[in-house]
Amino acid sequence: MQKNGQNEERKSRLLACAEQNRAGRGRLLPLRLAAAAVLAAALLALFGCSAKETEVSETFFVMDTVASLRLIGDKEQAESLLKQAAALAQELETRWSRTLPDSSIYRLNDGETVVLDEETAALLAQAAALSVETGGAFTPTVSPLVELWNIGEADSPPSREEIAALLPLPSPDFLAQARAGQPFSLPEGCRLDLGGVAKGEAANRICALLRESSLRGALLVLGGQVSCVGTRADGEPWRIALRDPDGQQGETLAELRLTDLHIATSGDYERYLEFEGVRYCHILDPETGWPPETDLRSVTVVSSDGARADGLSTALFVMGLEPSLAFWREAGDFEAVFVTSDRRVIATEGLADCLSFSNGAGGYRFEFTS
Ligand code: AMP
Ligand code: MG
Repeated sequence: MQKNGQNEERKSRLLACAEQNRAGRGRLLPLRLAAAAVLAAALLALFGCSAKETEVSETFFVMDTVASLRLIGDKEQAESLLKQAAALAQELETRWSRTLPDSSIYRLNDGETVVLDEETAALLAQAAALSVETGGAFTPTVSPLVELWNIGEADSPPSREEIAALLPLPSPDFLAQARAGQPFSLPEGCRLDLGGVAKGEAANRICALLRESSLRGALLVLGGQVSCVGTRADGEPWRIALRDPDGQQGETLAELRLTDLHIATSGDYERYLEFEGVRYCHILDPETGWPPETDLRSVTVVSSDGARADGLSTALFVMGLEPSLAFWREAGDFEAVFVTSDRRVIATEGLADCLSFSNGAGGYRFEFTS
C-alpha cells in the first residue's frame, strides 16, 4: 500500500513537471548527469529559435573535467550569462578542489583553520548528511584512500597492507558542525575529497543563476553531471542519452526527456586502472578500501538537487543493485537507472513517462522496476 502510494506520488510529480512544460511555464525541479556517461550533445537537436531567441554555447575545462553549457534566449543576456556561469564554475573549483593549493579544502586538509563561506559550509553539511543516509557508502573522508590508489596516474594497485593501514576511515560526522562565517578545522588525520559531490553542487549554483534570468532554457554538462533548465528552443524537454558502459562513444542504452532536473552518472568505465586483467575503478568502498565488488556497471540518478544526484550516484554504485533499490523505495525523492554486470538496464518507474529504452542495444534486457 505504502509502496503504491509512493509510486503514485513520484508519477504525479513527473507528470506535473511535464504538464508545466507543455504549458510553457518553465522549470520545476533541478537535476544532473555524468558527461562522459551521457551523450547529451549528440542528441540535443536544435530546432529553430524564435526571431529574438538564439543559442550560445561554450566548452571549457573545469573541476578536472570538460564542461559545456548551451543557453537559449536573448543573445545579449545569454552571452553575458555564459561568461558568468563559466566564472562561477571556476570560482567554486578554487574553493572545493582537493589539489589546488589555495582552495578551502586543500587548506583544511593541510591542517589549517578556515573561515567557511556559505557555499562551502552548505556543501560540507550536505556531504555529512549523505554519508549518514547512505550508511557510509558515500564517505567524504575517503581522501587518503583516493590519494593512495591515484587512479588515472598509478600503473598498479596499492598493496593490501597499505590499504589496511588507512582503515577504518575517520567518521565524517563532524562535518555537520560546519557553519558559514565560522572557523572550521579537521580532526587529526582526517582529509576530505568532495569529488563525488562537488560537481553536483556547482551545477545547483549555476542553475540557480540561470533560473533568475528570462532564458528559455539551458543545458549544462559538467563531466558526469548533466543539468537542464527550462526547455529546448522548440519548447520540448531536453534529451539526454545514457551511454552503454561497453559501447563506443555513439552507443546509447536509453534516452531521457527532462526539464529542470539534474542527472548524475557514476560508472566503472569513467576512470579506472587495468592491471593483470582486472579493472579497478575510481570509486572506492570506504569499508574495504578497494573498488566495490558490485553487480553494477553504472548508476544514473535523476533528482531536483544536483549535489544529491551526484552523491547518490556514487553511493548507490558502492551499494550494488538490491540495496540501491531498497534505498530508492525508502527515499522516494529521486529516480534512477541501473546498468548491471549481467547486462540488464533497470529504470525506476517514476521515469516511465520520460525514458525510452534503446531496445535491442548490445544484448541488454530492459525493464522498469517498482
Ligand atoms: P563520481 O564520479 O561522482 O562517482 O565521484 C567519484 C569521485 O568521488 C572519486 O574520483 C573520488 O574523488 C571520490 N570518491 C570515491 N569513492 C568515494 C566514496 N565511496 N564516497 C565519496 N567519495 C568517493
Ligand atoms: Mg558522484
